[in-house]
Amino acid sequence: MTSQTNPLVGERCVALGASSPRLESYPNRAMKLGTLDIDRALPIRERRLVGPWCFLDRFGPLTFAEGKPMDVAPHPHIGLQTVSWLLDGEIVHDDSLGSSSVLRPGGVNVMTSGAGIAHTEQTPRQHSGRLNGVQLWVALPGAERHRAPGFAHVAEAPRLEQPGAVISVFAGRLLDATAPVIYHSELLGADLAVHRAGRVPLPLRPDFECALLVLDGDVAVNGQALEPRFLHYLGSARTEAEFTSREGGRVLLVGGPPFPEAILMWWNFVARTPEEIAAARADWEGGHRFGDVPAYAGSRLPAPPLVRMARPEPAS
Ligand code: MN
Repeated sequence: MTSQTNPLVGERCVALGASSPRLESYPNRAMKLGTLDIDRALPIRERRLVGPWCFLDRFGPLTFAEGKPMDVAPHPHIGLQTVSWLLDGEIVHDDSLGSSSVLRPGGVNVMTSGAGIAHTEQTPRQHSGRLNGVQLWVALPGAERHRAPGFAHVAEAPRLEQPGAVISVFAGRLLDATAPVIYHSELLGADLAVHRAGRVPLPLRPDFECALLVLDGDVAVNGQALEPRFLHYLGSARTEAEFTSREGGRVLLVGGPPFPEAILMWWNFVARTPEEIAAARADWEGGHRFGDVPAYAGSRLPAPPLVRMARPEPAS
């Protein structure tokens, strides 16, 4: 299929690039990832990135006695990095480079698709019976998006013990913690576990736009309680924010300078033009470019048909 038959493909996403502080709240969308219920926090209807972050799925918390709630068959990616972060449970990642890695809470898996990679994500055979986490995507900038693919596993992201909170940094730098992962844009990704009756002031980069997603319990920013299952966009031009909790809570903090390029998202692809998406889809359907994931026993995910202005339905 070529772009001539379907000239308009994908969802165009641009950074709003707010130049001032604000607090805007956008409801998550309840979706299915296979049989797994997820809340999609990004992209939001306004099709906005937050810094280079272009996708955010929340899954769990859930418990299970049998089966594997996460079972994402081989699927391709271009133009992005996937970032997986767990609060509980386990996920095993395998990819077409031969990488294989079990992710556990406190660790981070970062897969760089570059021009093309295929991967799977599953609940491993040996598991705790629990699953709770997030997956995010980072759009690669134009100069890096055709690079060779790669995969990085960090067993323990840096943790900062503060009087009011424990802070884990899985992307970028916060206070004196730097995530030992290569990203290709400036960005921040952190998990703030605020203690009961805790208070933690944090410095923010004024050139970053930032957003928050409550992961557990109750969290307030600058005295404003944050509703769960909403993405709370903070804008930019903030030099600090104070996080508090009554009973204890966790919140995800993501940010970065407004992404300078408009991206086009379709299925698992982050591109710039419909032609690129059509070519990547044709390569996946034709068995080119992306390789196989031999560690996975089942069949791979077929690409959906190219349709005019398709909504992104990523397989993560
Ligand atoms: Mn994926």
